Amino acid sequence: MSRSTAHRTTLRHEFVRHVPEQLEDGVLYISVEFATAMHKCFCGCGLEVATPFAPTQWKLTFDGVSVSLRPSVGNWSYDCKSHYWIHRNRVVWGRQLSPSEIGRLRERERQEMELYYAKRRLDALSDGEPGP
Ligand SMILES: [Zn+2]
Repeated sequence: MSRSTAHRTTLRHEFVRHVPEQLEDGVLYISVEFATAMHKCFCGCGLEVATPFAPTQWKLTFDGVSVSLRPSVGNWSYDCKSHYWIHRNRVVWGRQLSPSEIGRLRERERQEMELYYAKRRLDALSDGEPGP
């Protein structure tokens, strides 16, 4: 799959309760209730991308007009390996990463997630009954 002019640079967002079965190209569907967003990969490959909101996953910013999503969306497990940011309803394309870069990124994400859950366990411990 080659990079082509099918790459979108703009999108629109839609707040929904349930994400529809058929996703429209160029639309970011946002379900606050289910803390997730879905869209069809902006490269045009047609694959659906889910970006769940969580402290260790994505964060959505809504400024009343447009939405931004952090961190970037990296479709590493898809053939297209698309990598982009969603910033104020625009798609900002990142360069494609090499397999070793993707490996390092995934390792970092895994470590961040481990750190997050380790901290949570610590918090839970200190919130509990005081130890001896
Ligand atoms: Zn794609």
